[in-house]
Amino acid sequence: MRELTITEKVKKTLQLEKTGYIPVIPTASAFVANQCSYSPKEYEQNPEVFALANVEVRKKFGYDANAVGCFQGVVEEMGKGLIDKSGKVSVNGERTVLKEKDIEKLHAYNIDECESLRIMMEKVRFLKQMDPDCPVMAIADNPSMSAAAMMDGANFYVSLIKNKKFVREVTELLMEPIAQSVARLVEAGCDIVWLPMPTLGGTCMSKKHYVESCLPYNKQFIEKIRKTGAKIILHTCGNWNDRFDVASKEGADALHVSEADLETLKKEYGKKIALMGQVPAAFTMLMKSAEEVYQESLQQCLTAAEGGGFILSADCGLPGNTPPENMRAMIRAAREAERILGDRC
Ligand SMILES: [Zn+2]
Repeated sequence: MRELTITEKVKKTLQLEKTGYIPVIPTASAFVANQCSYSPKEYEQNPEVFALANVEVRKKFGYDANAVGCFQGVVEEMGKGLIDKSGKVSVNGERTVLKEKDIEKLHAYNIDECESLRIMMEKVRFLKQMDPDCPVMAIADNPSMSAAAMMDGANFYVSLIKNKKFVREVTELLMEPIAQSVARLVEAGCDIVWLPMPTLGGTCMSKKHYVESCLPYNKQFIEKIRKTGAKIILHTCGNWNDRFDVASKEGADALHVSEADLETLKKEYGKKIALMGQVPAAFTMLMKSAEEVYQESLQQCLTAAEGGGFILSADCGLPGNTPPENMRAMIRAAREAERILGDRC
């Protein structure tokens, strides 16, 4: 029997199937920039170099996906050129909708003219061409994250309490354009959509407000993305311990967690949704020794990989200056856990 490709192994893991393999997927764009043999300027500006660099570093270390993003092009296109909260002409569209009547000033989104989307699609295509057996994971801000960026964080949070209609209006306006853009990324070859939600967690808003004003849109959005055939990973950034019950039912294939109790999560939700995480990106990956990275990574695999459905990762984006031996130690730990767990993972 032929060996499964990396993409097949990762997809099976996200479908909660055992493969005997524990994928390791860091969100490694900054790390790649540091480790590759290209200049930061080329890496940033040339999509082909971006892909070459990602494939070079991925193969050198042996992790299991190439990440591209984060897509924020809808906010950018709709709000650029408007005056933002600080009184400047906006280039990224952020903080341009402070009052309900600001909505009228927004530009219509023309998907074919979105430069960020065009560049990201190019990166996805190059990655797929250069590293065809490996999944491409596109990072994108979902409608609630985008609404918070467009409305300005503080204004978004106050409106969750005082003017829910305003939050709803902006989020609904962004839904279809973002979903269509992500669908284009999938058409270009992206296998996994990774949705970070750093400002929607327990550190930033109550569960009540999350359930009221974000959850319904997350579900709608995920349902639209599912139709494209891509796998979906929800990155519950920060402390989500009070809301994993709802997050696990939003329709994603996996929860990428941080600051969670993996053992409890695995017990409560492990048969319904895959888990990903959660070696602390800064405190362990960046700051501890390779041996400590190895031990923490191994422990997490042994806690969460039994029965399948676990991807080893840092708990957030991997810092650029993570020591290369720490990345190697993380991957070594996955291989050791596979040896220990055998056909139980
Ligand atoms: Zn994060």
